[in-house]
Amino acid sequence: MVESFRPAPPDTASECSDALGDTSPGTPEPPKTGCPGARLSALPHAPEDEDGWHESGGTPTRQRAVDRSKKVMRSSDRRDQPFPQSLDPYRGCELGCVYCCARASHGGLGHALDLDFETRIFHKPHAARLLRRKLGKPGYTCQPTAIGANTDAYQPAESELQLTRGLLEVLYELRHPVTLLTKSALVLRDRELLAIMARAGLAQVLISMNTLDADLARVLEPRAATPQARLDTIRALSEAGIPVGVVLAPVIPGLTDREIEELLAAAREAGARGASHTVLRLPHSLLAQFDQWLLWHAPKPVSRLLAMLYGKYGCKGTGRRSGGLEHFAELLDQRFRHACETIGFPGLPALNTGDFRAPPKVLAENEAGDEQGRLF
Ligand code: SF4
Repeated sequence: MVESFRPAPPDTASECSDALGDTSPGTPEPPKTGCPGARLSALPHAPEDEDGWHESGGTPTRQRAVDRSKKVMRSSDRRDQPFPQSLDPYRGCELGCVYCCARASHGGLGHALDLDFETRIFHKPHAARLLRRKLGKPGYTCQPTAIGANTDAYQPAESELQLTRGLLEVLYELRHPVTLLTKSALVLRDRELLAIMARAGLAQVLISMNTLDADLARVLEPRAATPQARLDTIRALSEAGIPVGVVLAPVIPGLTDREIEELLAAAREAGARGASHTVLRLPHSLLAQFDQWLLWHAPKPVSRLLAMLYGKYGCKGTGRRSGGLEHFAELLDQRFRHACETIGFPGLPALNTGDFRAPPKVLAENEAGDEQGRLF
């Protein structure tokens, strides 16, 4: 049984403030508004999100803008990136997880990493056409591709814009394998198409979770599906014949690590065939925001532990860990492996890259020309 998380407003400064990089003198004032996790939890959720919170009311104050980038596919050879290439039709993410490392990329768009990241959503209206052009380029080699590795491809905007759906249709037509990564139950909208793709070895879904505690999830990932809705999503996808895995991302030391075994067991019971995990990373750009969240929502011992593990400057580089955190992460890895062995995950089947067929050259060129006309 997981103890219920009881968020409590702080009455004094967090011990973590200094350790996580707050060098301002004196005791920081708890924020009166704009507290991470609380600001969007006050917003109603659209019923079509099927995220499990069952609220009604007005509309979230989101703004959408067109991302005119001509690239839809990103390649990466970074060690901490499990996917060699990924597709992200959206920049910014309304799900608003406080720990989200993608926040840093919003700075490059001239927007703030906190509320702007969650409410100013950029989208690529021609994502499907750009993808077709990319896959039609001479020399393109088919390899498993992720959708949603950077920002969630089933965030609320997808209900209306259906850009992820468009990408899936191109991928299926060209028999290109894909892994979807999401915290949203909206992925069930595409269950039938995914089931057809899965039968050809072309699709699998990873559901990201880090707690079974709805109170904690509400303040940590304010607009993601409830933990129960995510388990229900695993079950529904699995029953449709779609290989599903669970990703414990991120495990937060002192806060969610106690749930590793219970979460894995619940995911397996729901039908997850594979499991993986990551440990919280705190790039420098996230320290102020995370520190503020701790001040409001974390019990003091958690703040102390995180301060000790992440040190004054946090974990600066990608995948780089300080000594204490390195040791803690190794222990977590051992626990995770042991739990997986005990529970018995059969593993996700390999994706099929052998049936890929590039789009006809003429069609690809026409669409490229069409694209240029639309973009400029
Ligand atoms: S769902 Fe993923 S991309 Fe969206 S805020 Fe959460 S961690 Fe970031």
